[in-house]
Amino acid sequence: MSEIENVVIIGSGPAGWTAAIYAARADLKPLVFVGVPKSTPSIVLPGGQLMLTTEVENYPGFPEGITGPDMMANFQKQAERFGTRTRGEDIVSCDFSEKPFKLETSKGETVLANAVIIATGAMANWIGLDNEMRLARSGGGVSACAVCDGALPAFRDQPLAVVGGGDSALEEASYLTKFASKVYVIHRRDAFRASKAMQKRIFDAPNAEVLWNKTVIDVLGEDVITGVLLKDTVTGEESTLDLRGLFVAIGHTPTTEFLEGSGIAFDDAKYINLDSRSSKTNIEGVFAAGDVADSVYRQAISAAGMGCQAAIDAEHYLSALST
Ligand code: NAP
Repeated sequence: MSEIENVVIIGSGPAGWTAAIYAARADLKPLVFVGVPKSTPSIVLPGGQLMLTTEVENYPGFPEGITGPDMMANFQKQAERFGTRTRGEDIVSCDFSEKPFKLETSKGETVLANAVIIATGAMANWIGLDNEMRLARSGGGVSACAVCDGALPAFRDQPLAVVGGGDSALEEASYLTKFASKVYVIHRRDAFRASKAMQKRIFDAPNAEVLWNKTVIDVLGEDVITGVLLKDTVTGEESTLDLRGLFVAIGHTPTTEFLEGSGIAFDDAKYINLDSRSSKTNIEGVFAAGDVADSVYRQAISAAGMGCQAAIDAEHYLSALST
């Protein structure tokens, strides 16, 4: 059993590293569990979802843009500069029933902590095709975030497609109509689950077209996407569609499975519930930041902001403990 840590941060995306920077500068000597890569297509990577983003153009302070992996490497460097320690393991279960909290690592070790910040993010769901994942990883025009990537020069005045029929898919499609020559919405059924208002935006957009009852069964192109192979879910007929960008918007899955049974309160979709206007969970001394507790904004900058809040909340909590 280890010594008691002041604060353990679980996760190494923008929320986790920002929490580490603040906690380290407050002299809390945080320990970050960076995580280990998992099997594709689920892709939980050390560094989080930004490891799948080629160019980040909307994070303030980088007027020329920066790649997602470079940005995460910089975040880590900045956190380590102030004394953050890291471990390349996962936390596989948590016992928050008594203090200090007990965290079990993927190597079977138990780590004790006075405060915990959960910043494990949410994974975009992918269709699960080999070529989809290959081109998503290489920045070849497949993405799970139109707001992050849609405005890149490669997508301007090009035919693009969004997969999905929920609010995210239609919001992303609507966003893309501003840049693309044409936006196809590829949906596996003949009705959207998105709100009527969101549907109207797509039906009214002159450069948007809905392809009903279609699934993507392959993504075409070597270095960059050139199109997709579609299958009609009613007739079984196959067809190709020329594209220069594919945005997969079929939901997200928060990384909270390891918290099952820990007493942490979730919403119906398994995102962590937070006290309004703070990073506090229902368990005193356990805080959450970033996409794991945010199904709405899901941006690097909003996650970083939440990481900052969590570190400050943890610092206040720890200083109250020691007085
Ligand atoms: P969602 O509502 O769960 O929709 C996911 C969509 O992806 C569904 O249309 C589903 O098809 C489709 N899908 C799932 N798996 C698929 C697969 N393997 N292949 C092809 N299609 C697949 O997810 P979301 O759109 O991300 O929204 C999540 C929540 O956030 C919702 O509650 C939503 O209302 C909310 N949200 C709100 C706003 C807003 O109000 N501005 C914006 C974004 C999100 P089926 O319909 O056939 O199941």
